[in-house]
Amino acid sequence: MLKELLIDELQDIYHAEGQLVKALPKMAKAANSSELKEAFQNHLTETQGQVRRLNQAFELLGEKAKGKVCKGMQGLVEEGQEAITDGKEKEDPIADLALIGAAQRVEHYEISAYGTARTIAEQLGQDEVVQLLEQTLEEEKNADETLSKIAGPLLEESNGDMEDADDE
Ligand code: FE
Ligand code: ZN
Ligand code: FE
Repeated sequence: MLKELLIDELQDIYHAEGQLVKALPKMAKAANSSELKEAFQNHLTETQGQVRRLNQAFELLGEKAKGKVCKGMQGLVEEGQEAITDGKEKEDPIADLALIGAAQRVEHYEISAYGTARTIAEQLGQDEVVQLLEQTLEEEKNADETLSKIAGPLLEESNGDMEDADDE
C-alpha cells in the first residue's frame, strides 16, 4: 500500500532528524566562523521543530511516531565527524569549508527525502501532511542556501591567502 510506503519514508526521516539533533551541536562547536556556528545553532532549533512536525504527521496518519535506522544519514554524520576531526589540523577557513561540505550533503539528502515523502503524501490526498512536509522542505533548502552564502567569503579568504598578502 502507498500509505505504508509513506510511513516507511517518514520513519526513515524521523531517525535521520534524530541523528541530526545530536550531530548539529558538535558541528556548531567545531565551526570556527561565528556565522557558521550560528547557522548550525539555528538549524538545530529548526531541526527540533522538524521532529515535532514529523510527530504531527504520524498522528495525522494514525500511526505511532517511530524511527527506522537511516543508514544514509548514519554515513553522512560519520563523514561530518571526520570533517570535525580532520579540521583540527587545518587552517580555520579550510576546516569550516569542509564542515560546510559535509553539512550540505546532509541538506541535499534531506531535500531529497522530504521531496519524495511530500510527493507520496500528495498522491494520497493527505493535504495536512503535505503542508507539514513542505514547511520542512523549505527550511532545508534555506539551510543549504545559507551554507553556500557562508562558504563564499571563506573560499575567497582561503584562496586570497595564496595569491597575495594584502588582505585584512
Ligand atoms: Fe532536517
Ligand atoms: Zn535514510
Ligand atoms: Fe537540515
